[in-house]
Amino acid sequence: MAKPAETRTAGRKSAPKASRSAAETEKIRAALAARRDELRAEYDQTLSEITELQRDRLTDSAGDDQADTGTKTFEREQEISLANSILERITQVERALERLDEGSYGWCERCGNPIPVERLAAFPSATLCVSCKQLEERR
Ligand SMILES: [Zn+2]
Repeated sequence: MAKPAETRTAGRKSAPKASRSAAETEKIRAALAARRDELRAEYDQTLSEITELQRDRLTDSAGDDQADTGTKTFEREQEISLANSILERITQVERALERLDEGSYGWCERCGNPIPVERLAAFPSATLCVSCKQLEERR
C-alpha cells in the first residue's frame, strides 16, 4: 500500500507560518496515517469482541445466574464505550490530516513553534509544544 510521497505534495504551496519542510510534513502525515490504521484495527477488534459478547449473551445465557448476566452486560458496555472513544480518536486523527493539508496543523498555539513529529504521532490532537504544555500544567 506504499504510495510515493513526492507526487502527493507536488504543486502544493508552502505552509503559511514558520517553515516546516515538505519532508517533515510527509513524516507527520505518515505518522498520522499509521496511527489511524492502528486505531482502525483496534476499533475492528473491539467491534468483534462486542459481537462475541453479544452472541455469548444470546446463546449461553440460559444457564447463567444473574451475576453472570450482569458481568457480561457490564463487559459489553465497557467494550462499547471503548469502541466509541477509539472512534473519537480516529476522527481526531482524520481532522488532523485535513488540517495538515491546509498547513494549519502541528503548530504550537502558544509560541508558534512547530510541534515535534513524535509528539504529534503520539497525541494527534496536541495543540501545544511540550514546553508550553508543561508551563500550562504547572499553573
Ligand atoms: Zn509552544
